[in-house]
Amino acid sequence: VSGGKVNEGKAEILVEETNVFYNPVQEFNRDLSIAVLSLFAKDKYEENCKKAGDNKDGAEKRDGDSVDMKPGDKTENGISVLEALSATGLRSIRYAKEVPYLKQIIANDISAKAAESIKKNIIHNKVEHLVTASQQDATMLMYQSRQTRFDAIDLDPYGCPSIFLDSAVQSVSNGGLLLITATDMAVLAGNSPETCYVKYGATSLKSKACHELALRILLQHIAAHAGRYGRYIEPLLSVSVDFYIRVFVRVFTSQKKCKDNTTKLGMVYQCTGCETMTLGPLGIRVHKAHKLPQSPPVGQLCKHCNHKHHMGGPIWIGPLHDKLFVSRLLNSIDENHAELGTVKRLEGVLNVVDEELETPLYYVLDRLMSIVRCDTPSMIKFRSAILNAGYKVSISHAHKLSIKTDAPMEVIWDIVRAW
Ligand code: SAM
Repeated sequence: VSGGKVNEGKAEILVEETNVFYNPVQEFNRDLSIAVLSLFAKDKYEENCKKAGDNKDGAEKRDGDSVDMKPGDKTENGISVLEALSATGLRSIRYAKEVPYLKQIIANDISAKAAESIKKNIIHNKVEHLVTASQQDATMLMYQSRQTRFDAIDLDPYGCPSIFLDSAVQSVSNGGLLLITATDMAVLAGNSPETCYVKYGATSLKSKACHELALRILLQHIAAHAGRYGRYIEPLLSVSVDFYIRVFVRVFTSQKKCKDNTTKLGMVYQCTGCETMTLGPLGIRVHKAHKLPQSPPVGQLCKHCNHKHHMGGPIWIGPLHDKLFVSRLLNSIDENHAELGTVKRLEGVLNVVDEELETPLYYVLDRLMSIVRCDTPSMIKFRSAILNAGYKVSISHAHKLSIKTDAPMEVIWDIVRAW
């Protein structure tokens, strides 16, 4: 902050004499959201232009053709965005200046000071044509928008987003996008399983894979909320960064697919001895692609070391990302977002995400070796051993020493013991 102003991306935010929340560490979160929202908006715009068909009442709608729009342009075929918890308005203003194919953005905050700061910043950044300030409880604003709906809703709360989910899943359009942050990592990462159950409807576990578990707990929570209204979710991208997680999920309406979504939920059993993790069914049908054991290891001793299990979940066991979307996102960052402040990190994280196996959860190499009290080999050597045994392996973006593999744990323990 210099001279009461903050510059981030193409926005300049006035922060003098307010104590409205501004966190520079979240620049990566905002950059990533700009990249994701831009690609989503372009797809939606093209879809809308197609729908508009040969509607002649707007040049860009002629013959349903889309035209290239620049950030800052307003278009009727573009997307509507609600930033439900906006603080200074920084994120909305950056969206207005850096995301193309927009129709309208509402930047909302419950605090009067924040709403005042949003108004000032909208004028200071000359984005009045796209961004409107609002001061309401976000849940009320979303409930009141259940009929009109937004194409994208951004939820960036302090801590846990749960209280906003019921209204958010109802006020996002069919095929619309939810962009959701959770920062209460201690709860999600197993420090208080009871609190996690109360807040997220799932029990967390203390595990080396806690960051991916956190993502999967949040996703099942969003899916559960959506399911109540005959809606289901498709994650586009789910990332664990620094002290928070951020998920980008599309929400669709279909009673049938909504039931299918429950096949993407499961429980996780972690051995108290060797920390082997086993997925188990919820007690309802699970898609055969997940190859879960017929009966969960509840009450059984771990077959590798004879210890008991801790149970966590339910968790989302479907894909965390839409890989086609991720590779298109990487191309679009290269083409359109090279000037983002955190572009190098963005590309780094997304390249790892792009290579991630879909197998849920992961083990951490030094932890596996310390369980058997052996020295840790290099990641390259350990990964080669898995590949040589005929299985796939990747790391997870959530941990640099992680091992994601489709190899059964027998194979992994054989490799560990043979070292
Ligand atoms: N999205 C912002 C950014 O990227 O700079 C930061 C948002 S900050 C973490 C959370 C904001 O949510 C605070 O400004 C707070 O006043 C607001 N807030 C908390 N509860 C709310 C509610 N029920 N409705 C609307 N805003 C709320």
